[in-house]
Amino acid sequence: MKFYSKENLDFLLYSVHRTQALCKYDRFKNHSRENFEMILDAAASLAENHLRPILSEMDRNPPQVVNDRIKVHPNMKALMRKFGEDGWISMSAPEKFGGQGIPFTISQIAGFIFAAANYSSMAYPGLTTGAAQLIESFGSEALQKTFVPKMYAGEWQGTMALTEPEAGSSLSDLKTSARAHADGHYRISGQKIFISCGDHDACENIIHLMLARIEGAPAGTKGISLFVVPQKRLDENGQLVWNDVNTAGMFHKMGYHGAPIAHLMMGEKGGLSWLPGRRASQRAQLHVSDDE
Ligand SMILES: Cc1cc2nc3c(=O)[nH]c(=O)nc-3n(C[C@H](O)[C@H](O)[C@H](O)COP(=O)(O)OP(=O)(O)OC[C@H]3O[C@@H](n4cnc5c(N)ncnc54)[C@H](O)[C@@H]3O)c2cc1C
Repeated sequence: MKFYSKENLDFLLYSVHRTQALCKYDRFKNHSRENFEMILDAAASLAENHLRPILSEMDRNPPQVVNDRIKVHPNMKALMRKFGEDGWISMSAPEKFGGQGIPFTISQIAGFIFAAANYSSMAYPGLTTGAAQLIESFGSEALQKTFVPKMYAGEWQGTMALTEPEAGSSLSDLKTSARAHADGHYRISGQKIFISCGDHDACENIIHLMLARIEGAPAGTKGISLFVVPQKRLDENGQLVWNDVNTAGMFHKMGYHGAPIAHLMMGEKGGLSWLPGRRASQRAQLHVSDDE
């Protein structure tokens, strides 16, 4: 079954971009071209044996909303665990986060092979990698500990929740707002549309990286902040409880039928959320609301 050209990929990787030259750097000294080839052969095997066979099925049987939650192809749950356990979600992450420190170029090519086999199925792990990397890079230690391992394991989905009904290209018009509370968290209210993998039953939890404006922040791009907003948060006993991030509907996108595209509403209580970034704690102190 041929869904991409290995010859073209090898030519681009090793003759045009000379990716093997990365191995002379300290950071990649434990890698080699042979290693890269082995990794990409394993990606091709996963794509051929697990992703490609369900491409038509996923396209013909798109996700459905059942009891206000989105149900996806039944294989996606086992596949997300496989993407996690076999290290595909965390492949470029540093070892301290359970990754293999593989060059980003190679992880992107693995993603390309998965996408060529079955684009929708690739969206789930691909979005999770991006979201986990952001928390890994800018989150506090507590955020990293809570979210990153579960995301790299394929147990929790990551998303990017940016678009709103009135704010697509004009993202600076977004209306979703965040109210700061004394203990450093925020409550988010508003709605988001077109959120890829924004709700589904293949993962236990969905972690949204969501754009919102802190109450009192300036209009336009300058006043926008990014929050970690879990669909379910951990309570004081370590149990997952609903975080008032609700599914209001679903969209189908051409060429992408197997991926669940959610319309999200943050309920009246407002989803509890956290602000990653070095200035997070200072900002929380600046915008503390007086009702808590
Ligand atoms: C496959 C897919 C996956 C997506 N996944 C996500 C996701 O995971 N998370 C998320 O937050 N969003 C997601 N989106 C939404 C995406 O970010 C928005 O669709 C995008 O920002 C454009 O916004 P819009 O659809 O409202 O179109 P609009 O902004 O309304 O644009 C419509 C048309 O008007 C044109 N236009 C807009 N502004 C101007 C201007 N000032 N001057 C001239 N022309 C203009 C545009 O070029 C376009 O042709 C996804 C979209 C797609 C297609």
